[in-house]
Amino acid sequence: MRKKIVAGNWKMNNTLQETENLLNELISKKPTESNAKIVVAPTFVNLQTAVTKTAGTGIIVCAQNAHQAENGAFTGEVSVGMLKSIGVQTVILGHSERRAYFGETNAILAQKVDTALKHNFTVIFCFGEELSDRESGNHFSLVESQIKEGLFHLAELDWKNIVLAYEPVWAIGTGITASSDQAQEMHAFIRTLLRTNVGNKIAEETSILYGGSVKPDNAVEIFSKPDVDGGLIGGAALKADDFIAIVNAMR
Ligand code: PGA
Repeated sequence: MRKKIVAGNWKMNNTLQETENLLNELISKKPTESNAKIVVAPTFVNLQTAVTKTAGTGIIVCAQNAHQAENGAFTGEVSVGMLKSIGVQTVILGHSERRAYFGETNAILAQKVDTALKHNFTVIFCFGEELSDRESGNHFSLVESQIKEGLFHLAELDWKNIVLAYEPVWAIGTGITASSDQAQEMHAFIRTLLRTNVGNKIAEETSILYGGSVKPDNAVEIFSKPDVDGGLIGGAALKADDFIAIVNAMR
């Protein structure tokens, strides 16, 4: 059985006070039993507060990024070891905003994945095509190269700590969602890619999340697809009611 996951990527939103308020609301509104693991990714400075606040609630706190080096002269960066020392054990890597605005290449991401796995992190590894790739019919090969170059060097055992997140860039923050059929088509393609290259067991056991304008009113339909194991939620994760509705959409 694959893990079902609904993860909220808060991006560069929420002050300390807003973080506390949103977490309080999430804790009080979340179902006692949910079909999905609930993950929240606040900004670095609020991670420690989030770890403390969510202790014992089952909510998993996740970082939005981490550096590939263990430590050193990298002004402004945060290491995996630092995250671990405050109780964070999950990290999003390769988000399209990191790739587009911060120059994160597949090669850098492969290093980041290695460093995170070395410290026993769970990695939510993001990838996805731009609109121009889809229009030119290049989307499958682009996604294939992002996954191959970022992850195919891993050993079989490493995969138990990898969660994939397919996020078509044209659907992120735009209000345009990939149709559930487009999501399923890509997720099935990814699972076949894993089956062919890293084996059937890993293909069957790796959770593949969809991200890109998931909202309460489209989550049920998207999550109903057999190869969609959850969502990575941006905008709708900033409102407790919307986020919890999306968690509850996981059947
Ligand atoms: P969105 O963002 O839900 O606001 O489209 C998704 C993401 O970037 O993870």
